[in-house]
Amino acid sequence: MRKQIAAANWKMNLTYQQGAGLLQEMVSANITLNENQSAVFAVPFPYLEMAFDTVQHKKNYFIAAQNCSDKKSGAFTGEISAEMLKSLNIPFCLVGHSERREYFAESNAVLAEKVNICIRNGITPIFCCGEALQIREENTQNTFVEQQLKESIFHLSGEHVLKIIIAYEPIWAIGTGKTASTAQAQEMHAHIRYVLKNYFGESISNQISILYGGSVKAANAREIFGSPDVDGGLVGGASLIASDFIEIIRALK
Ligand code: PEP
Repeated sequence: MRKQIAAANWKMNLTYQQGAGLLQEMVSANITLNENQSAVFAVPFPYLEMAFDTVQHKKNYFIAAQNCSDKKSGAFTGEISAEMLKSLNIPFCLVGHSERREYFAESNAVLAEKVNICIRNGITPIFCCGEALQIREENTQNTFVEQQLKESIFHLSGEHVLKIIIAYEPIWAIGTGKTASTAQAQEMHAHIRYVLKNYFGESISNQISILYGGSVKAANAREIFGSPDVDGGLVGGASLIASDFIEIIRALK
């Protein structure tokens, strides 16, 4: 069975003390995760070590970075390399969040490099894709998302693409309170799996987790995660409230 994953994206929120308290509250909640379920927390860089220490003895809880450099090392002031993340035992990294694409001009080609460098360092990229409202209104979202995948992950071997998690996040649903309907999410997830199947084969396509992101809340998580091709969620706003994110973890299949 594919992994079912509830991934929190704290973005640039919370002080260190607030983050430590929130994470402590999450790990103290009595959530039983089976071997196919994981909770992942994408925290700001300065909190990685604290977060790792907090979850390291908790089964199926993991820490993620929110970004990494596409470069190996060197004179890139302010950047964080995948090798640095690896040296802190960080197993996941978000790649290509729409905010990185929009505000930091990350292209599909740069994201392909980030995917490569994560995989080379044994870090699982949580590769984000998704269309803006205008593309949805033009009804060209399927080809748009397919192109994002083609340009950033289709160069990988079957062995390497199996190390990726995909997060479909329609931009019009991120932080807007406007969730894609369960049918819209399932339709796109099925399309992504179909595209993966055509390129990498059925067995591989069935093993890749595809998360939904965009205004997932405690109240709608169970319904969204219940769709056959939705393998959990990438959650921004609701992951900052312990009781909400605990419910979202509990909503995993
Ligand atoms: C996100 O930023 O990945 C996200 C899905 O945010 P929100 O849940 O707040 O829409």
